[in-house]
Amino acid sequence: MSDVKTAVVTGSSSGIGFGIAEGFAAAGMNIVMNGIEPAAHIEPQRLRLEDTYGVKAVYSPANMMKPEGVRALVATAEDVFGAVDVLVNNAGIQFVAPVHEFPEDKWEAIIALNLSAAFYATRAVVPGMKARGWGRIINIASAHGLVASPFKAAYVSAKHGLVGLTKTVALEVAEDGITVNAICPGYVWTPLVEKQIPDTASARGISEEEVKRDVLLAAQPTKAFVTVEQMAALAIFLCTDGAASITGTALPVDGGWTAQ
Ligand code: NAD
Repeated sequence: MSDVKTAVVTGSSSGIGFGIAEGFAAAGMNIVMNGIEPAAHIEPQRLRLEDTYGVKAVYSPANMMKPEGVRALVATAEDVFGAVDVLVNNAGIQFVAPVHEFPEDKWEAIIALNLSAAFYATRAVVPGMKARGWGRIINIASAHGLVASPFKAAYVSAKHGLVGLTKTVALEVAEDGITVNAICPGYVWTPLVEKQIPDTASARGISEEEVKRDVLLAAQPTKAFVTVEQMAALAIFLCTDGAASITGTALPVDGGWTAQ
């Protein structure tokens, strides 16, 4: 990365998305942050990126569940920075229920955010990347993009679909200097995960350590959460020239989960 690149990271007001945004800022990229929280709530994080790393960061609360929201996010990035060099499709939600009870609106919402948003964003950024002869598209899938678990019909379907989208677009842009990859994390230590632990412990009558080890990390052989810093490290590597031949992949970062 010789010149200053611009990265759009969807769902980057917290968790993995913010970790990747911070990693990119530390690597010298300008950042377009996104999330559903009002801009005023995100201002301290936005300023932290600018002040700590000397880059420019903007925040857009565009709704990635709507195609027009996705288009607006890309338009904001192009207006402010002139280009989108790196796109990380990260925004995602989860809902858990047996398939015959799965609420139809939850299915639609998960497919819209976890899969269709990545299609609309990719569709919007590829022409500019092709014209400039360089681009990186990183889709945050999941171990559930590679294997299934019960009660997660929409999430597993969306994440498998995201891996399929990754492979297809990678083939289409392979000669244009653009790589397209999916990262497939197991359980990542984020505020979302941390918040579930006390409730799960009291609901099951077990300790918080037992919740981590025997419930959340039951499928993760390392018995250790992936960190947002580890997610960011791989995303940064995928943006380097050293990763130029890595495309169309679904890279597990799952402590051995999908090796089983
Ligand atoms: P999180 O809940 O901490 O953050 C989600 C982000 O998405 C927030 O910034 C939120 O504002 C944003 N968001 C939610 N709805 C949105 C919408 N309609 N439009 C725009 N932004 C929206 O989640 P996380 O744990 O950091 O997960 C990020 C991604 O990583 C998701 O795609 C998730 O499926 C995937 N993932 C997470 C884990 C994990 O263990 N945390 C594991 C595998 C995959």
